[in-house]
Amino acid sequence: MKTNRKLGNQTETARIEALREYNILDTPAEQAFDDITQMAAYVCDVPISLISLIDESREWFKSRVGVEVSETARDNSFSNLVIMQNSLLVVPDTRTDPRFSGHPLVTGAPNIRFYAGTPLIIPSHLTIGTLCVIDRIPRTMTSEQLECLQTLGRQIIAQLELRRHVFELETVNQKLKILAASDGLTELWNYRTFRERLEVEYARSRRYGSDLSLILLDIDNFKSYNDTFGHPAGDEVLKNAANILKRSVRQSDVAARYGGEEFVLLLPETNAARAVELAERLRCQITEQVSAERPITASFGVSTLRPASISSSSLVDEADRALYHAKARGKNRMVHCYEKQAL
Ligand code: GH3
Ligand code: MG
Ligand code: MG
Repeated sequence: MKTNRKLGNQTETARIEALREYNILDTPAEQAFDDITQMAAYVCDVPISLISLIDESREWFKSRVGVEVSETARDNSFSNLVIMQNSLLVVPDTRTDPRFSGHPLVTGAPNIRFYAGTPLIIPSHLTIGTLCVIDRIPRTMTSEQLECLQTLGRQIIAQLELRRHVFELETVNQKLKILAASDGLTELWNYRTFRERLEVEYARSRRYGSDLSLILLDIDNFKSYNDTFGHPAGDEVLKNAANILKRSVRQSDVAARYGGEEFVLLLPETNAARAVELAERLRCQITEQVSAERPITASFGVSTLRPASISSSSLVDEADRALYHAKARGKNRMVHCYEKQAL
């Protein structure tokens, strides 16, 4: 029995890495692969056909016809020999082949007599598994059948590559979606995303009668900061302020750059008292943490949806008016729209 060898370390590591990149191991059965094993069994006129992928320790079957088990140990496996020799392996009668005559799958169940396996070679020339056909009686295969087995093997690689490209495209798409919805400087959500989420949260709040609050904040005297320390230092201030907001919000909140040096927080399930508390906490953190050059302060306008509000915009308008009053009263403060004198 000579089949329990492994490849050189480097090739083996690259092979396993390449196999993992396909994200195929332990995935459910798929029609595209099952069609190929069905076709291989039919063309080669055998009861068993397998797409086997070989990782460090096991031979795992992506598709199988005629066997119940979904994997076997790698050592001693027929397919392991195929990936090591990297070429088609045909064993017409296992009992007369010294490499296999003592094999437990030959001497015992399922009593393999015939085996033909073609290597699954990926574009980087590494072999990740096999397409094999098996019978319980000795056999020979015609050159057409062998050609067909190899063709189907190449189709498996084509499928895997296709799958990988779709996966990569989805990942890129996901990243692009996030980029399009975010602000480039601060990596907060951008204004458009905020407006979309505002509509969603407004509708939800109306439907379930849940609280909804909004905090609008504007960095004080930011023009003068830029003029004194330069635009890049101003950018750092915006990024630092954004990081404080990111750290302070819950998963369900929306922290966005409203424009220039203004930010907005949309807070579902948050009443006026909790919104005021958060705004006050943020005001202190911004003063303490944002700039080493010169203390930075911000003014805050806070609003909470009123039962009589007729649109999502009223939440923004009220926060905007409250912010205006915070500025008018000397900046570095917070005003909630419920305060009588605010409006
Ligand atoms: P106030 O206290 O009344 O808010 O005064 P302010 O100076 O903060 O407000 P003003 O609207 O006069 O100026 C805002 C400044 O913000 C002007 C603009 O150059 C600066 N700004 C807007 N966007 C950016 C940016 O992305 N980076 C930097 N560094 N500055 C920005
Ligand atoms: Mg402003
Ligand atoms: Mg400002």
